[in-house]
Amino acid sequence: NQDEMICAGCGAAIQTHDQTQAGYTPTSALEREVVICQRCFRLNHYNEVQDVPLENTDFTNKLHELGKRNALIVKIVDVFDFEGSWIPGFQRYIGNNNVLLLVNKIDLLPQSLNENKLKDWVRREAKEQGLKVRDVLLISAEKKRSVEEAASKMDQLRNGKDVYITGCTNVGKSTFINSLIQQFGGDEEQLITTSYFPGTTLDMIDIPLDDGSKLYDTPGIINNKQMAHFVSNKELKHMTPSKEIKPRIYQLNEQQTLFIAGLARMDFTKGDSNSFVAYFANDLLLHRTKLEKADELYAAQAGEMLSPPGKESIHEMPELVAHSFHIKHEKTDIVISGLGWITVVEPGASVTVHAPKGAGVSIREAII
Ligand code: GDP
Repeated sequence: NQDEMICAGCGAAIQTHDQTQAGYTPTSALEREVVICQRCFRLNHYNEVQDVPLENTDFTNKLHELGKRNALIVKIVDVFDFEGSWIPGFQRYIGNNNVLLLVNKIDLLPQSLNENKLKDWVRREAKEQGLKVRDVLLISAEKKRSVEEAASKMDQLRNGKDVYITGCTNVGKSTFINSLIQQFGGDEEQLITTSYFPGTTLDMIDIPLDDGSKLYDTPGIINNKQMAHFVSNKELKHMTPSKEIKPRIYQLNEQQTLFIAGLARMDFTKGDSNSFVAYFANDLLLHRTKLEKADELYAAQAGEMLSPPGKESIHEMPELVAHSFHIKHEKTDIVISGLGWITVVEPGASVTVHAPKGAGVSIREAII
């Protein structure tokens, strides 16, 4: 009876009906002599961690286990999608453990970036979100920038304890762990192991550290506010920056609109002429038009000129809903979760952003 089977890798109960949940195993794999779930199978073969939604209470219960361990918690966030990759209520999960915050994908931001200013901003943001962090580092796991610094910081803060690597899906956890392994030697096959920890319920992989402690990789958490949920994988590639973002600057007058392909639009409804600096993937189309023509243009061109979304996925995209802001401070970012942001340079602008229903839209002090 498959209900009673447990995965030989992580100990989760084997189930065949829900790919998004722990223990999922394709029916065909039940015939194997040693049954392991798809997640552990992938971990073993491709070193890939599968992710679970945050609403999954089973999983949040497991996150609470982190608070019962005496460990260093490394939390990774994506600088390109800071809000979307922040795990709300994180402090509740982790108890009194030390937290090292790694802000990843820093290679996507312009090189002219003032790193200290960004770090200060991150510290304030963490505090505002109720998270006590011991330190903040800006890294690029992919370009191996500051990975070594992160490793020695981890070593210093962990004080002989285990380390847990946590973060939302797609923030670069696997990339980070792999670059740690590459930099600090060891044969990957030998170092990355899946194992079942008796008496624990966390489904994680562990990597032995040289003093007998362990580095754990936890499954990612899916954040529903990300635009990624509304587009196809191909389109997602198109809207996710893969290299340094070249800011695009628009001098706009009131009653002008800026389309972010067919995914969103920003209406500058009222205010003196102002500068808007757009940070989106370099090949994502930005199109300026008059506000009075915007509805008509969208009706005619969404899925055509205004693409992504393309013809196939336009019908699956939720309707656009309006979010209005009055910008009171100079240099304010209007952020569309997972898509990018627009910095409004001068105070006094009234803007309305139209974004797919469910997508997170917010303002913050400019990070650049
Ligand atoms: P995980 O889901 O947290 O394990 O994330 P992955 O390690 O699978 O990375 C998710 C995506 O982000 C992949 O497409 C990576 O190539 C990309 N990525 C990871 N680290 C970086 C980075 O430092 N810079 C950039 N530009 N992309 C990164």
